[in-house]
Order: sequence, then C-alpha cells, then structure tokens
Amino acid sequence: MNNKIYDVVVIGCGASGATASIYASRSGMKVGLIEKGLYGGVLHETPLVENYTGEIQISGEDLAEKMENHVRVQENIEHIYGEVVSIEKKDSFFEVALKDFIIDTKSVVIATGVKYKKINVTGEDKFEGRGISNCALCDGMFFKDKHVAVIGGGDSAVESVEYLSNIVEKVTLVHRRSELKAEKILQDRISGKDNIEFIWDANVELFSGEKNNLDTIGYYKNGELNFLSVDGAFVNIGIEPNTDNFTNLEILDEEGFILTNSSMETHLEGLFAIGDVRSHSIRQVVNATADGAIVSKTVSEYLKTRGDSIG
Ligand code: NAP
Repeated sequence: MNNKIYDVVVIGCGASGATASIYASRSGMKVGLIEKGLYGGVLHETPLVENYTGEIQISGEDLAEKMENHVRVQENIEHIYGEVVSIEKKDSFFEVALKDFIIDTKSVVIATGVKYKKINVTGEDKFEGRGISNCALCDGMFFKDKHVAVIGGGDSAVESVEYLSNIVEKVTLVHRRSELKAEKILQDRISGKDNIEFIWDANVELFSGEKNNLDTIGYYKNGELNFLSVDGAFVNIGIEPNTDNFTNLEILDEEGFILTNSSMETHLEGLFAIGDVRSHSIRQVVNATADGAIVSKTVSEYLKTRGDSIG
C-alpha cells in the first residue's frame, strides 16, 4: 500500500499521458504517472511522423525520447512502473490497484492507448515472434534481403510496406479487398516499386511452418485455398483499446473504447480518459497531446470544485 494521495494518477505515458502529466505538474498537482512499458507508447512503432506541427519529419523513436525527456524534468511527477489491474471509486477518492500495491488518488486519467488486433486464425499465436510481428520498425531488420508479407490495407499496413521495401528483397501485401484504405499520400509512396507485390481479395486462413518458424501463409481467394511462401509476416489490420481491466466501470463504448465528453470527462466523477483509448479519437499525435492539455485543465477545475488544495 502506497500511503500518498495523489491529486491525479495518469495511467500510460504515450503522447497523451506525457502531455497530461507535464501540464498537471506545471499547475502544481502531485502527479503519479504509471507506465508498464516504454514512455512514448506507439510512437516507438511509428517509422516517421510528418504531421506533428513544428516537426517536419521526425522518427517516432526520436519524438518519444523528446517527450520522455520533457516529462522527466518536471518536479511534481512520481514515476511508477507496473500494470494497473483495476480502478475502484471510493467515496471521495479512487483506489488504483497494480499487481502488488494500491495507490490512492483524488482523480484518474486513463491514457492506456491501443494494441494490435489479431486475425484470429490457426498458427497466429504459435508463430507470434517466430516470423509473425506487428511492428515493421521493430522487427523489419530480422528479414533483411528476405520475402515478407504485410496483411492489411490501412495506413499502418502501407507504412509497413514502405518501410520494409527498403530492407527486404520482396514485400507482398495481402489485403481482403481490391483497393487500399490508406491515405493517398501513403499509397503514392509504394506505387511503382519493383519489390512490392499485391494479393487482392484474399482472406488469410492460416499460418504454418517447419521447425517452429513461419514459412507459409494460407489464404482464400475466389473460394480456393492458396499458399504463399514467406520468411515473415506483419499483421497490421487495425487496433483495439487497452481497456480490458476497466470493463467494470461501465465507461466503454461497444468496441471497448472509453466514452468521454469534449472535456475528457467520463460519466464517473473524477475519472477521465485521453488519447487513442478514447471513443472516436482520430488517433494522431497532435490530438493525443491536445487531449492531455485539455484534461489537465478539467482535472484542475474538478479539484477546485471539490474544495481540495492542490499539491
Ligand atoms: P485501419 O485503418 O482500421 O485499417 C485496418 C485494415 O485492415 C483495413 O484495410 C481492414 O480491411 C483490414 N482488416 C481489418 N480486419 C481484418 C481481418 N480480420 N482480416 C484481414 N484484414 C482486416 O487500421 P490501421 O491501418 O492500423 O490504422 C489505425 C488508425 O491509426 C487509423 O485511424 C489510421 O489512420 C491511424 N494511423 C495513422 C497513420 C498516419 O497518420 N501516418 C499511420 C498509421 C496509423 P477492411 O477495409 O476490409 O475493413
């Protein structure tokens, strides 16, 4: 049990959680910042950010590092490592439970972001990390001069194809439709490249391989099962929210994202959500940081309304 009572506990240190913590700290709040992985969240899996105002072109990794440095120079932030397993509202405060201890706080900001969706087909779990990955930036180099597939048709898939095409011998994009959903500017970047092939209208059915390493993707096209030999596969078919531990709070929409108003308030007083985990977020870094700034103001007003002293 941690005996401190925080003004606000921020769960997650991606772009939104980092910004909320910086703003809250600068307004004098005692902040507990909980993160279970790397500061910067999905930025670590983003090859290039080209639409964050003021940064014409910056790698996700570099932007994440800049954000982490910015968070770490703040005075009122206590850094807590671990995964939150539950949030419980008591009368005038919240209990935030991690695996081995509980934190008391006057308010909570959930900034837990999203994770990759699975196709849910045979072999997907077995070959995860043995040829199947979701992150081209993290794992692309393992497939230097080899043949990989990317599954999906959105921005993530096309970004992966572009990145991988500069490393591997050949990339085959496997998509269940006959056209891509990705932004046109991204599509233009992969058109006409010699080492990129497309398999359209194809539904992946299985992953298999000898000696515990992926070597084949089975997919249905025109009602027939086909096989593609590959050295690796990147599954980029979208994302889902990291909200499994918050279902009891009744704050989720039908897809599991957190419902808030434009001030980032959930229907539970003192509980807020920001960034990609928020229902109808457009999932851009610039929005995540904006959410962080807005929530800090809302939390500050909430604490004042309660008559609490801050800090
Ligand atoms: P997405 O936009 O939801 O696209 C998912 C793609 O995977 C769609 O083409 C979808 O096909 C396909 N798909 C979904 N479920 C499938 C399944 N079970 N089997 C096979 N294919 C399946 O996801 P995303 O590309 O990961 O992007 C997520 C969000 O992040 C988006 O809002 C995107 O704009 C944003 N993002 C932005 C950038 C950027 O700004 N540069 C980069 C990456 C991501 P259907 O069309 O048939 O459903």
